[in-house]
Amino acid sequence: MGDQAVPADYKQFFEKKVNIMLKLQRRLGSAYEAATDAELVERIASAKDSLADRLVVLGHHYQRDEVIQFADKTGDSLALSRYAAQQHNAEYVVFCGVEFMAEAADILTASHQKVILPDLGAGCSMADMADIDAVELAWKEISQLTDIDNVIPVTYINSSAALKNFVGRHNGAVCTSSNAAAIIKWALSGTKDQDSLPDIVEVAKKTKKKVLFFPDQHLARNTAYRLGFNVEDEVVYDPEIELGGLDQESAERSTFILWKGHCSVHQRFNVAQIENFRNRYDNAVIMAHPECSHEVVEKADIVGSTDAIIKAVNAAKPGTHIGIATEVHLVNRLADTHQDLYIECLDPVMCPCATMNRIDLPHLAWVMDGLLEDTVYNQIIVDEIIKEGAKLALDRMLSIA
Ligand code: SF4
Repeated sequence: MGDQAVPADYKQFFEKKVNIMLKLQRRLGSAYEAATDAELVERIASAKDSLADRLVVLGHHYQRDEVIQFADKTGDSLALSRYAAQQHNAEYVVFCGVEFMAEAADILTASHQKVILPDLGAGCSMADMADIDAVELAWKEISQLTDIDNVIPVTYINSSAALKNFVGRHNGAVCTSSNAAAIIKWALSGTKDQDSLPDIVEVAKKTKKKVLFFPDQHLARNTAYRLGFNVEDEVVYDPEIELGGLDQESAERSTFILWKGHCSVHQRFNVAQIENFRNRYDNAVIMAHPECSHEVVEKADIVGSTDAIIKAVNAAKPGTHIGIATEVHLVNRLADTHQDLYIECLDPVMCPCATMNRIDLPHLAWVMDGLLEDTVYNQIIVDEIIKEGAKLALDRMLSIA
């Protein structure tokens, strides 16, 4: 991949992350690094057989195919964590995804279950854009500008356990890309009974509640617009600037305070790519993940989470040309499994999510071999104090949507 194809924030992220990875993720040695794919596949399959129901392997949709082939369950982050929590016999949960997902699995699983991330370098650049110190500072700053009792913090599941704990302690909730609208309606209205709610924009005017949403500004903006809010109702909090760049007027006026974060993968999609695809095909259908910018989402025919995109592709008429704005491994897998459709990733030079991509055959074989000898490498353990508040925030989400 040429230098031009690497976004600037990826570079910054990796410069910061490389040092951490060197400290945390040990070299695997030549037994794994020099092994052929065929040898590694055989090793992993054999370890899986031996461990039987003591082990469950989870694979996020964005993982590579050679890893996905070993997953007992594929899905998005929440679906996988919920699945893990139901596998009471499984002593070991090998999570082929990124760190915040393994943390969520550790929070939701029982104490006898050990959650393992095959490569500790598999973080998430979006989750890293809102660290707990910056969020604590933001909370203090916002409390200088508006009545903080009216501010409900909501964090996207793509965030650290520390943030989920913060949200839990401040009467907020976690959300996913599937249930963000329901969680925002709950935050602004204070009611879980969504069916009885009149227009949420009117409700928010009466309650004067606000949502502080992190780390992804795009998911929040796209969801708010879908609910009927507009640009006047939002302000972006930039953690690099004093007071986040807010003043009393903007903080008081806004219903949404959006953390200045984004996904490095989904921000690569743009309107020109959509127009190009539509120009090429008469029956084009555009599907976009809500982590894409609002301009992209506005031009899409179908907007939804990875699961929603998969369902929409499954329901498409044969012969349809589908352009998808989400991570390329998922798009390529959909194209391979739906030979009666024409499926393309909208970004022709799309690179995969680089951190998801760190989970590979050598790392998977290494952790599985360890388990055969009762050695647990790379266990993800969330501190009990953090776990308590984070679980509160996750349980609150599950009770709402
Ligand atoms: S696709 Fe984006 S949000 Fe998902 S793990 Fe990668 S960087 Fe994070």
